[in-house]
Amino acid sequence: MSIIVSENSVIKFLDLEKVNNRFREEIDLRIKKILDKGWYLQGEEDKSFEENFAKYIGVKHCIGCANGLDALNLIIRAYGFSSGDEIIVPANTYIASILAISENGCTPVLVEPSIITYNINPDLIEEKITGKTKAIMVVHLYGQAVQMDKIWELAKKYNLKIIEDSAQAHGAYYNGKKTGCLGDASGFSFYPGKNLGCMGDGGCVTTNDDELAKKIRAIANYGSDRKYHHIYKGINSRLDEIQAAILDVKLKYLDEDNKRRKQIAGYYRENVKNNRIILPEIYNENSHVWHIFAIRTNNRDELQKYLEKNDIQTNIHYPTPPHKQGAYKEWENNSYPISEEIHRTELSLPISPVMTDEEVEYVVEATNKWNI
Ligand SMILES: *Cc1c(COP(=O)(O)O)cnc(C)c1O
Repeated sequence: MSIIVSENSVIKFLDLEKVNNRFREEIDLRIKKILDKGWYLQGEEDKSFEENFAKYIGVKHCIGCANGLDALNLIIRAYGFSSGDEIIVPANTYIASILAISENGCTPVLVEPSIITYNINPDLIEEKITGKTKAIMVVHLYGQAVQMDKIWELAKKYNLKIIEDSAQAHGAYYNGKKTGCLGDASGFSFYPGKNLGCMGDGGCVTTNDDELAKKIRAIANYGSDRKYHHIYKGINSRLDEIQAAILDVKLKYLDEDNKRRKQIAGYYRENVKNNRIILPEIYNENSHVWHIFAIRTNNRDELQKYLEKNDIQTNIHYPTPPHKQGAYKEWENNSYPISEEIHRTELSLPISPVMTDEEVEYVVEATNKWNI
């Protein structure tokens, strides 16, 4: 059985060209301005985007950097966490969250996610806290804000920092506050495919901590607090003017784009009806910005093949859990059954602000007719 609605056109998982072409004129103008001026780093565009993004999130500081992994790395580095220190992190996150911890010589302590929210299970954190624990890294996975109450309590009780990985959740809310200001510091990624993405690599740190912000800004710029004056053994991790300008343009449309994602997710959640498929759940209308629409099924690979045959591109987030990756051989015998279950069954349906109603309906129709 094959449903032919769009004979030659494939429904892309994410049509980035279409996403970005909506802003082509505005972006062209901003880039032209940069070329005319000949100033490429740490200039007006960077300053403007940092101010606008800080305002958008509701924090005092935004520090642009080269990518999301660097943002997390810079936060851990600036806190001075290093060898022997433990940082709690969800077992089913994208590996970058864990790499940032390892990169600083700290020990990542994996905690199982909830099988309902796919975010870290707050009830399983306390048993993993030791005298060496320095921080809890929460990851707002797939675009849904982590439920923070219990985590705030634990951080206070054990004097731990809360580091947010907000790389998938630009604009998501928890209790009326946006991700990026729910902890002590947050890392964002502006990788092209994210809800707010540039045209290359980009990232930033957001925080209300003046000292931390100053330190991160210096470390990211060769450890320099002023020109040719180096107080840290820093790195070079900056957001360039062209990426900052692109982000500054796209930021204005982020809420609108997230609204469209929410609409599509709502349509999927109401209309996908197939008893082999588990749909994602939300605890609050504003908690989720639907970076990824994650469904689960025992026959994931078959469903993916079937949809592909029907010209629908899907993705898997993610096929292999971090503890089964070659990079973390030391964990290969560890078992995280909930995380493994998610990795075994997850499939991401196409979702993006440029999908048409027809495309969304077609995906629903095909998914509902899946019958193995
Ligand atoms: C994308 C992503 C990162 C890394 O961001 P980059 O900009 O690609 O380095 C980190 N954590 C999560 C959860 C991500 O999705």
